[in-house]
Amino acid sequence: MPRSAYIHVPFCRHRCGYCDFTLIAGRDDLIPRYLQALRTELRLHPHDPVAGTTELETLFLGGGTPTHPNVEELRSLFAILAERFTLAPNAEFSLEANPLDLTEEKLALLSAVGVNRVSLGVQAFSESTLQRLERDHHAAEVETIVRRTQQYIPQVSLDLIFGVPDQTLAEWRSALQRAINLGVQHISTYGLTFEKGTAFYTRRQRGELQSTPEDLEYDMYAAAMDDLTAAGFEQYEISNFARPGFRCRHNMVYWNGGEYLAYGPGAARYVALRRETNLRSVWGWLAKIDRGLSPVAEVEELTPESRARERLFVGLRLGDGVERKSFEQQTGFGLDDLAADAIPKNVATGLLIDDGRTIRLSRAGRFLADRVVQDFL
Ligand code: SF4
Repeated sequence: MPRSAYIHVPFCRHRCGYCDFTLIAGRDDLIPRYLQALRTELRLHPHDPVAGTTELETLFLGGGTPTHPNVEELRSLFAILAERFTLAPNAEFSLEANPLDLTEEKLALLSAVGVNRVSLGVQAFSESTLQRLERDHHAAEVETIVRRTQQYIPQVSLDLIFGVPDQTLAEWRSALQRAINLGVQHISTYGLTFEKGTAFYTRRQRGELQSTPEDLEYDMYAAAMDDLTAAGFEQYEISNFARPGFRCRHNMVYWNGGEYLAYGPGAARYVALRRETNLRSVWGWLAKIDRGLSPVAEVEELTPESRARERLFVGLRLGDGVERKSFEQQTGFGLDDLAADAIPKNVATGLLIDDGRTIRLSRAGRFLADRVVQDFL
């Protein structure tokens, strides 16, 4: 039985121009219906032969914006989750949050139900960059909100975006420094992407927005690695930096090839070599559940070899890399049998380090991680 669960909460105040996540904006009237459907789905897919609650080591609420529902709705959400799950002692209970939502009242509720890690979508400390990203909070309030959150929640992570049109390297470094100065335990840095179907993609097609030049984006990623590691963070994954002991345990389950449950529109679960993905459309997911049907849209049965390969290419994104012995114990496959050509090829080009026990991306390899990983598929 998996000991990790993900819950997708698909509501936002509005859709930011770069976002292609599964969500519905400006339809708060659907929240009560979503809560009922979630309750039903939690019963539909118990993945547990014994009726009752499942004890979790990690519980992660993502979105959308899990902090968007009002206090009463959030109370209902946590009550619904408590019908199905209990948290193990020292479990990690994480939740993604929009800065503007974190009022004292909501923070007190989150703390009372045991949320011990909040991942805040701060994105930038510059007003012009926040406006360009169409975020609804202001630069001047970020530090106050982070400090308020720290009074209630022991672990705080900040999401920051680089490669935003017109963002300078100096501005990006200043954002990193301000995040460091806030004393948070974890920082995630993401390069802005222009995904098909987003408003940003269309605006770029029309020439209204330009992608950041590749060399500047490279310098920004390099600055994140240099400045955050100099401040005592370890880069434990391509985009994620943590102070020692504060890695996101839930995400580590994904990256280490562990099993997890998942509920809500677009959510994907992985149990017993089987990956199931729910309908991405919030309306579609609601309609299926309302009719008593499964909301699963895709099922993928992994063979032992495809699971091993997946474990390999996901593991390569980790700072720890992939260790030969534990890989073989976990998957039943020898690392060198699966990647006989890919390992020497990438070592020769300096993108991979092989110390005989473990393979891991070099600093140069981190910039080209997607390309390196292709060789291992
Ligand atoms: S708040 Fe986050 S999830 Fe919601 S639209 Fe903006 S980027 Fe997407």
